[in-house]
Amino acid sequence: MQSIKIVISYLGIFVILGLLYQYHIKYDYEPKVDPVLQTYVDEWRLDMDSAGISYSRAWDELKSIEIVECSKIKAGLINSNGGDEHTLGMVIKPDRRIVIDSSLLTMHESILRMTIYHELGHYAFNLDHIDDHEHIMNTNPLHYSEYKEKWPEFKYNYINTILTQLNER
Ligand SMILES: [Zn+2]
Repeated sequence: MQSIKIVISYLGIFVILGLLYQYHIKYDYEPKVDPVLQTYVDEWRLDMDSAGISYSRAWDELKSIEIVECSKIKAGLINSNGGDEHTLGMVIKPDRRIVIDSSLLTMHESILRMTIYHELGHYAFNLDHIDDHEHIMNTNPLHYSEYKEKWPEFKYNYINTILTQLNER
């Protein structure tokens, strides 16, 4: 009788530890983000939060946002499934990765920011390309000064596109 009680209490401890571990994984999970990209990813998250847009499902599944060499994307060394014509960045859905071309690091930060928003738009909300030059989801990047000067407008249109798409589902 005594030994059964001991077994039961041990089992209880294991169940509690298991639950704590699951809780830890669920609430502490973060995709691996290259430190250079962290600021822009954080900005995007804040913007989504302020607009009341939930992205947690996609976020919890995302493995990484990495910087890679463009030549590797072009040579097909990186699976280009769902890739962009401009290849500044790419979503690799089956691997749950977002890759950003290293050449962006030599460009103005407004292009880097736009690319992060663009790829996260594809990844988190399945946004398609939009045939409007003044939209983050366009395939042909503009001169950096356009994004720098008109970022609030770009962001407004982008958020509206996401909200419209979420409402249509
Ligand atoms: Zn794209």
